[in-house]
Amino acid sequence: MRKFLIAAGARPNFIKIAPLIHELRRDDNGVAWKLIHTGQHYDYEMSEAFFDEFDLPKPDYFLNVGPGSHAEQTARIMIEFEKICLEERPDVVIVVGDVNSTLACSLTAKKLNIKVAHIEAGLRSGDMAMAEEINRIATDSISDYLFVTEKSGIANLRREGKREEQIIFTGNIMIDTLYYCLKKLETLSVEKIADPPYAVLTLHRPSNVDNKFKLEDILRAMVEISRDIPLYFPVHPRTKGNMEKFHLNNLLENTNISVLPPLPYLAFLSLWKDAALVLTDSGGIQEETTALGVACFTIRDNTERPITVEEGTNLLIGTTGGKILRAYDDFKRGLQKASRIPDLWDGRTAKRIVDRLLVG
Ligand code: UDP
Repeated sequence: MRKFLIAAGARPNFIKIAPLIHELRRDDNGVAWKLIHTGQHYDYEMSEAFFDEFDLPKPDYFLNVGPGSHAEQTARIMIEFEKICLEERPDVVIVVGDVNSTLACSLTAKKLNIKVAHIEAGLRSGDMAMAEEINRIATDSISDYLFVTEKSGIANLRREGKREEQIIFTGNIMIDTLYYCLKKLETLSVEKIADPPYAVLTLHRPSNVDNKFKLEDILRAMVEISRDIPLYFPVHPRTKGNMEKFHLNNLLENTNISVLPPLPYLAFLSLWKDAALVLTDSGGIQEETTALGVACFTIRDNTERPITVEEGTNLLIGTTGGKILRAYDDFKRGLQKASRIPDLWDGRTAKRIVDRLLVG
């Protein structure tokens, strides 16, 4: 019997593995699989909440690596994950996304001559100052199966010399979760957080939130925007910590910005799906807004997900307060772009991935 190990460690990972696990559970397809949670994200709001919402089983292993520098976290995951690989002897280790768990588990598996499947392969921002970009390139360079979400990924992997049979365009697995949860929302009563019109903000990229002046500049622009439209801001733990450290919390007091904790997926979805505009520096949210046709401003200078700009609702608006306000001005004047849903973002990606993995 073939055996897969599925590794996940951070919020966006849980969102990507859910459809895969649903698919593996669906049929008696002759595969044994186990789920490993590295513990990279460990608080309830960033981790456990998602297991409940996505009907995921308790992980078979919890590595409990917790916070630390990139080197510490990556190293701790590798040490613990190696023990599991040696005990379980899987045929394939499946990793998703671009976090430290992705790199640590793929590297560990490959050095034990275990095949590696990378879901969300081929994305490139071209920005080597981004830890995620290093994780993407390094993981793809040693992966056997490269499951690609958008056409730029195919081109990038070809350019990097990957063989055609390794590059497998299966669509976007995050969108499987999005459709699964939209359906769930039809039958669940999730408490409404806001009445339209409103906008939603998320921020967590180190390049935006780790520098006091940068973060302050962005937040001041948000306060300005909130004079025109209420803003709902679920704050990532990293950003929360930095706002406290830099004494920026008072900036948002007595404004039209509602500061919220990180929201469970369903609560967050029910909020942003009806937003007039989403402002974000998240990778996944650029894709989700494109899938539902919600206007998205990405507070970055580059994106590894160019299809969201070429075909979707996403606009790269830069990271300075001035640029953000100019983009908002255009938006208010009705300058919104036309969009379409990218190819194979249809809710059936996990099935295509499992079908391919079963071929061997
Ligand atoms: N998300 C969520 N609750 C929140 C903010 C985001 O469930 O309060 C979801 C969001 O819908 C998306 C994912 O988390 O599916 C994105 O994760 P994140 O922005 O942390 O990581 P990135 O995509 O940038 O790697």
